[in-house]
Amino acid sequence: MNFLHHTRYPMPANPFSTIRETVDVTPEVAGEVKTTTCYMCACRCGIRVHLRAGQVRYIDGNPDHPVNRGVLCAKGAAGIMNHTSPARLTKPLLRVGERGEGRFREIEWDEALDIAAGWLGETRRRDPRGLAFFTGRDQSQSLTGWWAAQYGTPNFAAHGGFCSVNIAAGGLYTVGGSFWEFGEPDFERTRYFLMFGVAEDHDSNPLKIGLGMLKSRGNARFVSVNPVRTGYSAIADEWIAIRPGTDGLLVMALIHELLRADRFDGDYLVRYTNAPWLVIDDPGAPDDGLIARDADGDPLCFDHASGALAKANGIDISPALAGARALGDGRRAVPAFELIARRYLDAAFSPDSVAERCGVPADTIRRLAAEIAAAAFESEVTVEQPWTDWAGRRHERFIGRPVSMHAMRGISAHSNGFHTTRALHLLQALLGSIDVPGGWRFRPPFPRPIPPAPKPAGPASVPGASLGGMPLGFPTGPEDLLVEADGTARRIDQAYGWEYPLAAHGLMHVMLRNAWAGDPYKVDVVFMYMANMAWNSSMAIADTIGYLTDRDETGQYRIPRIIYSDAFWSETVPYADLVLPDTTYLERWDAISLLDRPISHADGAGDAIRQPVVAPDRDVRPFQDVLIELGVRLALPGLTREDGAPRYPGGYPDYLANHERAPGVGPLAGWRGDGTAQGRGPANPDQLQRYIDNGCYWTGELAPEARFMKHANRAWLDHAHAMGWSPSTDPVVFQLYSETLQKFRLAARGHGSKLPPEAHRERVETYFDPLPFWYPPFEEDAIEATDFPLHAVTQRPMHMYHSWGGQNAWLRQITSENRLHVHPRTAAGLGLADDDWVRIQSHHGEVVGQVRLMSGVNPDTVWTWNAIGKRRGAWALDSDAPEATRGFLLNHAIADLLPARGGLRYANADPVTGQAAWYDLRVRLEKLGAEEAMEAARALAAFETGPTAPKGPLAHGKEIADRPSGRPAVEFSEWLSQRDGAPSRRGDGRRGHRP
Ligand code: SF4
Repeated sequence: MNFLHHTRYPMPANPFSTIRETVDVTPEVAGEVKTTTCYMCACRCGIRVHLRAGQVRYIDGNPDHPVNRGVLCAKGAAGIMNHTSPARLTKPLLRVGERGEGRFREIEWDEALDIAAGWLGETRRRDPRGLAFFTGRDQSQSLTGWWAAQYGTPNFAAHGGFCSVNIAAGGLYTVGGSFWEFGEPDFERTRYFLMFGVAEDHDSNPLKIGLGMLKSRGNARFVSVNPVRTGYSAIADEWIAIRPGTDGLLVMALIHELLRADRFDGDYLVRYTNAPWLVIDDPGAPDDGLIARDADGDPLCFDHASGALAKANGIDISPALAGARALGDGRRAVPAFELIARRYLDAAFSPDSVAERCGVPADTIRRLAAEIAAAAFESEVTVEQPWTDWAGRRHERFIGRPVSMHAMRGISAHSNGFHTTRALHLLQALLGSIDVPGGWRFRPPFPRPIPPAPKPAGPASVPGASLGGMPLGFPTGPEDLLVEADGTARRIDQAYGWEYPLAAHGLMHVMLRNAWAGDPYKVDVVFMYMANMAWNSSMAIADTIGYLTDRDETGQYRIPRIIYSDAFWSETVPYADLVLPDTTYLERWDAISLLDRPISHADGAGDAIRQPVVAPDRDVRPFQDVLIELGVRLALPGLTREDGAPRYPGGYPDYLANHERAPGVGPLAGWRGDGTAQGRGPANPDQLQRYIDNGCYWTGELAPEARFMKHANRAWLDHAHAMGWSPSTDPVVFQLYSETLQKFRLAARGHGSKLPPEAHRERVETYFDPLPFWYPPFEEDAIEATDFPLHAVTQRPMHMYHSWGGQNAWLRQITSENRLHVHPRTAAGLGLADDDWVRIQSHHGEVVGQVRLMSGVNPDTVWTWNAIGKRRGAWALDSDAPEATRGFLLNHAIADLLPARGGLRYANADPVTGQAAWYDLRVRLEKLGAEEAMEAARALAAFETGPTAPKGPLAHGKEIADRPSGRPAVEFSEWLSQRDGAPSRRGDGRRGHRP
């Protein structure tokens, strides 16, 4: 650099003099550091927030934190710009205009809570089902779900039905854990890592750390199976450009090859899975396809050693994996493994048969299978640690098959995702690579028993009563479904109905349509939190806006009341009748709880908190505090004492420290009782301070002998039971063949006391196959491929998270407009070039966008970044912001319902779990002129931002020095002293019994 010409160094009198700059290399940019947990995506990294004069100055990663070990991504560092965003809500709002106009009157909290409690109380007295309480990317679901149960509505769910329930349920029903949050690849030891799809904001920093470890070790292969080569796929050793929705078929072809070559771990199958369990073969009988059991209810196998039937859970037996056996009562049965082998050895799953459909050459599939087998069986890794199995047998070491896997979206967001996930776990089990060194490992508190628990709780029969359990759960058979006598679903989203029986995360994407249609019944109040349902958390956006604004013949809105809580002025705020402004994540308490989705890693359990590092400088309140306050006003049983006094007068932190879900089990596992208990123990008034002192997280490392083979490891099983994570110390046997699914299939065949209505029987029979199977994504099957020849998917930018990122002054500079990425060969066929505008049209709708050519995409697929496109007038962005003029949201083209068949219209969702199938989208492209395109892009009217709407935008960093970033937080000790005796730390005088 030529210093003499730098504007900071004016020309001195003597041009030859040496200018010496005094640089303060250790400026005091911050005087105080507070730890907390990031909330800029789902990853839950530990952060350090640097403050000066009580203001947030910058954020960095906490080097001690078990999740990220100091790593911070772009989103995490840019948290300060969310925290200071001009789009923040500042005061409770009451609608004064029409829904969608965005005209509100600012009101005081007292009035807001009175209104909300009035609406909610009236509904609860009449019929608690009249409340549909749905949250979005809420990290406090153990509170929000429990609150719904106290209120008495079954109509509760969060974001999972839109996001990942296929992955979660597919794993939990098969191996008792799942990819992403409940499991992890053993990056330290793996030799072969297969990644299927991925959402870059899920497990983001752990994956980056792991891939870095794997790459720098140099002796492991990383294969990425993804239609798009972005993010992690860009550094893979091999990229498999699969056609969307065919991952299951590829996995089954790999299984075919392994079986054909006799390359599977028979010992592992016999010891840890239900592969040798005998399955009754009695077509037409009510127990056909169920597991043959003895008088004690224990599963049977055929024991080669004794030449007779034996308890499959016995020890010192030699179970058969093939061969039909007589059960002694005229029935016959075959081992589950024989059914597995018969199915996948079929020529339909040969590499040659699936290659074209998958877009992967047959030779590549064969080579992948051979490489996987070689890694598993010829590069065995061991951990020299003696351990004892569930039956008391001592083993000298842990032996590993070092093939590991990870999967998330796209698999999760296809209508065949549940079965694809099960197929992946079957592949892992065949390789013997689950919870072994170098394989894919469980994160505590997983694995848990299969089928999972608890069961979903149904609506209370008495108005004003609470539910008997939690609204979300896991059916173990048709008897657990929430259906009326005629088979009609009892939940507003039809979860746990015959339409979507294992909808373990609910169907928030169905809720608004059903609430509008009164199907299966009308609701009075829709209460949403952090769920941008009028934009990127919905499919069929125009229809969704219609559900929110449509009126009945009397002129009343069909959805009578909408309460919405969010921290920001999103696209959904204008559709609410009452807006309860939330704080940012730096201004509140939170728990990343073992009761929900903790921060565990394979070697130990972990949970964490958020603490308010600054106090809000606006008239906003943490949603969790508001929920507890509403519970008190409604006199909900868990939230009030017998005399009506609040049970948690200190609000959410009080709840975190003192609530017990079961005796001795609370939201936080660390420092219970006198501070020495972990997992179980009495409440500890000092618990939150102990978390703060420890960097806002707790970890409980497992004993070395409990770290692998958890499903069958005596040390783990005893530990999990003692900690309250498992109801028993029994081993977890992987359910490769699912008797639970077969029970539903039998109901569809007319067996049992709870039968599906005739109209649903074929669907249940087909999709409740006890073995994983592949079927084309529903949309693909319903349209003419020639009309809509391209798959269309989204990818999550690493630097954006849902709608939050696109309003962030720093992150917007990375991406403020998205393009539709098209393979050059495909583009040439359509006469498209870079920057051309196209109409992206599906069978349902359309949206326009600009093209960018990219060779790193499957030629039959187009893709774009998610969550960039914004509606004009929202998020305090300028009305000409590129997000609103050039950015686009693919959701406009995605249908929320499948085309009608036989008079029935199901949701565009997986038929087992109800997972939204937004990756099934098929489109065609039509080239547009720029003018025509710009006009179409502006088709959706901008919000008229009234006086209560925030104004922006915040320029890049410029205004941050002037913009207050909060007030100093109340210290924990101060909070604690206020809690004793003071009815409310806010002094609003409204706590207490207010039904
Ligand atoms: S990965 Fe997610 S949680 Fe971690 S620092 Fe980035 S935004 Fe925060």
